Amino acid sequence: MYTCGPTVYDYAHIGNFRAFLFEDLLKRWLTYKEYNVTHIMNLTDIDDKTIKGSQKEGIPLRQFTDFYIQAFFEDIKALNIEPADVYPKATDHIREMVKIIQTLQTKGFAYKGEDGSIYFSVAKFPEYGRLSHLKVGELKAGARVSQDEYAKEEAQDFALWKAWTPEDGNVHWDTEIGRGRPGWHIECSAMSTKYLGESFDIHCGGIDNMFPHHENEIAQSEAATGKKFVNYWMHNEHLQVEGKKMSKRFGNFYTLRDLLAKGYDPITIRYLLISTHYRQQFNFTFEGLESSKAAVERLRNFVRRLHEVEGSTSTEKVATLTAKLEACFGGSMDDDLNIGIALSSLFDFVREINSLMDANLVSKQQTADIGGLIMRIDGVLGIIGKVEVEEALSSDIDALVQKREEARKSKNWKEADSIRAQLKAMGIVLEDTAQGIRWHKEKA
Ligand SMILES: [Zn+2]
Repeated sequence: MYTCGPTVYDYAHIGNFRAFLFEDLLKRWLTYKEYNVTHIMNLTDIDDKTIKGSQKEGIPLRQFTDFYIQAFFEDIKALNIEPADVYPKATDHIREMVKIIQTLQTKGFAYKGEDGSIYFSVAKFPEYGRLSHLKVGELKAGARVSQDEYAKEEAQDFALWKAWTPEDGNVHWDTEIGRGRPGWHIECSAMSTKYLGESFDIHCGGIDNMFPHHENEIAQSEAATGKKFVNYWMHNEHLQVEGKKMSKRFGNFYTLRDLLAKGYDPITIRYLLISTHYRQQFNFTFEGLESSKAAVERLRNFVRRLHEVEGSTSTEKVATLTAKLEACFGGSMDDDLNIGIALSSLFDFVREINSLMDANLVSKQQTADIGGLIMRIDGVLGIIGKVEVEEALSSDIDALVQKREEARKSKNWKEADSIRAQLKAMGIVLEDTAQGIRWHKEKA
């Protein structure tokens, strides 16, 4: 699986993270289904934007992009995105790009323009436009575009290799095809095939990458190898914020860091961004963020409660509900990652088990089965986490310590002693300090 990674010229925004989270959900689901996933995500550290950014700051390109690469890794960790197997940098793969361009020249798909740059001849590749349903007949013959990004209406021969110009400053490579730098699109063709082979299964990205980026990747790769490049293309739809296109101009542009600075938990943001089907347009709202917070809390509370069950009375309903959840969650995720139905089956289950627990009809033995399934499902969702059980224990202990203090203050020695014994049984040691009572776990 190859997923187009960030262009590291700025902090990634929540629209970028919608794509990375959809890809994470897909990968986690495939792993749940016992597929062996090799995931490659490139880092675009050389393109029109990174060059412009480094020049603006007056620092070398590598120094400029390394800063944002570091920030990107911090962000995906906060969002609990599972790391890719390899994060190749474009600047480390210039040789592979040059090789593909040379092959394209030899096979007659590429030509050198009078500006010294090398272009892909769209007319030579009849399948061009298949992915994005572009009518190739409308292309202007011989017209060329040197920018990395352009609209469908401007579709024309695109740059594989950009000859050095003074605007590039000291960003250039001296190669067999001249002094210059790669175009953005060839980068992904070179890095995907290097790590996954000439043909591979899944290629993902945001819908705005479909044209021209992915269309051009297909053209370059298939023209060079003569083989089918990718079996499945998956694109996520756009993200809007409060019903509008996200834009600095509208004051509704958010990076992950902007939201964290407002005090939002990254896992709440994760939940919100995965909870809408990837092929639906997503409307990010602060109200949505609040209800996501409640949803995450409901699931975590449920897991905490499972750990508190001590009884042995049980009902067969539990096994029926567990089987139903497993089938319904799995069936929905298998249906093109229908996360909406998958999540509602999960919350139905939580509600039904909660009411059985209210009636003391769930045994400790059964909570272990339920907990196991919830944790397997959380391997896909990535929102509950293992740490919660420990946390639940800590808050339980805090409450007991507090209760014992109150008993002591009211000279209820019997209760205070009984709580102390209870804590001791849990392996908790109490100590009197100047700051009050502290507790720690007895070392095993
Ligand atoms: Zn790409």
